[in-house]
Amino acid sequence: MLFREPVASILMLQSLQFDNRFVRELPADPESGPRVRQVHKALYSRVEPTPVPQPRLIAHSAEVAAILGIDEQDIASPDFAKVFGGNALVEGMEPYAANYGGHQFGNWAGQLGDGRAINLGEIINAKGERWELQLKGAGPTPYSRSADGRAVLRSSIREFLCSEAMHHLGVPTTRALSLVTTGATVIRDMFYDGRPEAEQGAIVCRVAPSFIRLGNFELPASRGDVELLKQLIDFTIRRDFPELAESGKAGGDQLYAEWFAQVCERTARTIAHWMRVGFVHGVMNTDNLSILGLTIDYGPYGWIDNFDPDWTPNTTDAGGRRYRFGQQAEIAYWNLGQLANALAPAFASVEPLKDGLQRYVDTYNEATRNDVAAKLGLDECREKDLLLLQALHGLMHTAEVDMTIFFRALADVDVEMPNLAPFEDAFYDEAKRKQAEPEFNDWLGSYAARLREDTLSAEQRREKMRKANPRYVLRNYLAQQAIDRAGQGDYSGIHELLDVMRRPYDDQPGREAFAARRPDWARTRAGCSMLSCSS
Ligand code: AMP
Ligand code: MG
Repeated sequence: MLFREPVASILMLQSLQFDNRFVRELPADPESGPRVRQVHKALYSRVEPTPVPQPRLIAHSAEVAAILGIDEQDIASPDFAKVFGGNALVEGMEPYAANYGGHQFGNWAGQLGDGRAINLGEIINAKGERWELQLKGAGPTPYSRSADGRAVLRSSIREFLCSEAMHHLGVPTTRALSLVTTGATVIRDMFYDGRPEAEQGAIVCRVAPSFIRLGNFELPASRGDVELLKQLIDFTIRRDFPELAESGKAGGDQLYAEWFAQVCERTARTIAHWMRVGFVHGVMNTDNLSILGLTIDYGPYGWIDNFDPDWTPNTTDAGGRRYRFGQQAEIAYWNLGQLANALAPAFASVEPLKDGLQRYVDTYNEATRNDVAAKLGLDECREKDLLLLQALHGLMHTAEVDMTIFFRALADVDVEMPNLAPFEDAFYDEAKRKQAEPEFNDWLGSYAARLREDTLSAEQRREKMRKANPRYVLRNYLAQQAIDRAGQGDYSGIHELLDVMRRPYDDQPGREAFAARRPDWARTRAGCSMLSCSS
């Protein structure tokens, strides 16, 4: 049994102001501690992180620390690693694991819950914003089922880096404050081939205004517990949708209707962003979708290199490809449909739920049109521009063209004499490039003709495109290289990537390598091409 520091011994972080509404306002499981169990009539269980042998901070996000009001001196102190490695609590923290269910790969999975995430508390920062802190990989909870409650270093690096990269790309997401190694090993069978290995353990502190998921509502609904369901809806509106709560909308159906519609709207915007930047979540189960529309639970996610709408990064998904890039919008709609089913008993009629789902469709279509206009550099998206983009996607798919490089280079097309010169680096296969060249030239001709009809000046167009088409994304192979180095005890790859991803829309001289297409060696390597759920 490892020693846990008494609360009072931690002198730093005393200025953090906690206001733990989730545990204060919602019903708790009467039993505390990590004994595995089914939990009824309660939305969470109190459970503390399990101490680790040697917590060591290997990376942190300065931006998230600043949001929370944590200064660099506190971060440098050994107490910081103790707190964010789960070995000590700060005055005001009230740790708990949330109880939720979910549909996994289209099937109802029953109670899931925070099996390895432990929420520490809700901070009110200097601006009056609410931010919840959550450790991922901090040990067993009542929801750990047969698993260990821990996380390995490789998946923790991926979650830490991608949370911050997504934020800087302008995509709604949970954030990451810290990445701590535990000094303990974790056994994982990474390839599910019966060859388990000991890997380094790590803990990420995730930060978000709320960690409530669609599955939090589904679980009480599945058990017919409408009272608990309503309690959670009312709480979520009060805490996480304060403008709505204060909007003066009458209680009951009208308020609920607008709330559900806003959930749908936020989800639609986030998925449209994923499609814009080439992000594939990989496990869009309903327990992995946030009620605030934040990107949450970075598992076997991936980034599109060569444009392929059928690509899924998740080996578990390889058969059905349910979570493939090109199907994410449909899956989010399906997930919101499951949420609507769950919420129905709290609504007087199903009409508002249908309207909410329609809001999803409308918002997604509108966001997509805006993105098409921005990615192509047009003042507005006309009907025929959707076809223009569709045709481009088809070409990019068959000719194996890098999505990020191609769209970034599109701003450099010569409108008078369009040709493939700006796209030299975007092709993965020389034979396919040669074959597709005539069609690409045709397409570029239509595109240039369209640009000549447009009202934007060349300068405005360039500006608009550069803000929509990132130069840098967290390519799978880049993250894997940082992981390989970290495995040797060299964490500089993590720091460097974190820094590059701070300004994804800027050309960063000297950092061209981070914008390069996936090298051949990475095409089929685990971690670079596909990932298992083992984490
Ligand atoms: P995921 O789809 O990966 O987000 O996880 C699905 C469920 O499995 C959630 O309830 C997780 O908390 C739980 N889970 C995943 N990995 C572990 C682990 N190592 N220990 C305990 N629970 C886990
Ligand atoms: Mg999850």
